[in-house]
Amino acid sequence: SPAAGAAGGSANGATTVAIDLGDRSYDILIGAGLFDQASSWAGLPRAAVALIVTNDTVAPLYLERLKRQLAPLYGRVEAVVLPDGEQHKRWESLDVVIDHLLAGAADRKTVLFALGGGVIGDLAGFAAAIYMRGVPFVQVPTTLLAQVDSSVGGKTAINHPRGKNMVGAFYQPMRVVADLDTVDTLPDRELSAGLAEVIKYGPIADPAFLDWIEANLDALLARDKAALAHAVRRSCEIKAWVVGQDEREAGLRAILNFGHTFGHAIETGLGYGEWLHGEGVGCGMVLASELSARLGLMPASFVTRMTRLIERARLPVTAPRLGIDRYLDLMRVDKKNEGGEIRFVVIEGLGKAGMRGAPDALVAEVIEAHSER
Ligand code: NAD
Ligand code: MG
Repeated sequence: SPAAGAAGGSANGATTVAIDLGDRSYDILIGAGLFDQASSWAGLPRAAVALIVTNDTVAPLYLERLKRQLAPLYGRVEAVVLPDGEQHKRWESLDVVIDHLLAGAADRKTVLFALGGGVIGDLAGFAAAIYMRGVPFVQVPTTLLAQVDSSVGGKTAINHPRGKNMVGAFYQPMRVVADLDTVDTLPDRELSAGLAEVIKYGPIADPAFLDWIEANLDALLARDKAALAHAVRRSCEIKAWVVGQDEREAGLRAILNFGHTFGHAIETGLGYGEWLHGEGVGCGMVLASELSARLGLMPASFVTRMTRLIERARLPVTAPRLGIDRYLDLMRVDKKNEGGEIRFVVIEGLGKAGMRGAPDALVAEVIEAHSER
């Protein structure tokens, strides 16, 4: 399992996690108050133009503060403010960003800043990957989910009407600046959705982290900064360890999708916007834990333990009744599948994940065992 990094501490408790990918290496800065510190933005590539991509929920909260920090560093600091929502992670929004860049005579040195949650990060990252075959970009994640997961690792994408994240690129940012103060303005549901991705890292890679989350969940729900700092940092370290070995998901990286096969089926089956991604992952981890137990890989007590923790994080633990055939159909379109068999991330021992196929009848039993009565 991944080693905890040396504490790159500083007076205000900020830490740095390094992503080691050769000439695509970069730092994740984590701490409260990072927005207003010049050091957070120092040393980025010079350019005439910086473009901030954000949305109409995040802009009123944080856009002016970021602009103020960037103004002394760039000739011009511009912004594109997109409408909020997963449904806007699409071609039309990408076009708006590219149009803005071309209309404003932005050149190949232009630096893009993604200010927002995973939707903005994925879309702005993809724009940066394709504009003039690639310009530097910086992730400024403002949701817990984006700070622990989507802003790290270089997956960028937009959705297609036929499937989520179906058009995209691997493209690493130059830096990630995760200011923990932004978590203060997050709605409760979004906080819990982020916690689902935090919880995920325990069973797949680090039993001690799972213990720590159990002991500190109340502090995390109360948005305690020291607890958040540890959770974000450890999550990023584990993600860095996985991505460092398998940047383009030839194998290992798929373990980051623990709970996601069932979760995506629920998200899609109910219609996007009904359950948040993290809510699907929460319930999906209950089902994936059950599957691990029924495959004889884990004891039944593990399912109870995960269910209790996920419930305490205020996430759903019972699956909606979509019908078994619908579940199976939805899971058969997953990117992880090979040759028509549904592949699940399972836990093979605390801190160790693997991929397994399972007979439809067993999958049906798993879903039935945790469905709404
Ligand atoms: P999101 O970007 O939709 O943000 C959630 C909500 O919170 C939005 O309404 C947003 O406007 C609002 N918001 C953001 N920051 C806020 C703040 N500080 N205060 C108040 N409100 C704020 O959703 P998300 O959960 O951050 O990300 C989900 C997206 O991330 C999905 O599209 C998913 O596919 C993607 N994702 C990508 C990866 C990856 O590796 N690239 C990994 C996981 C998820
Ligand atoms: Mg996820």
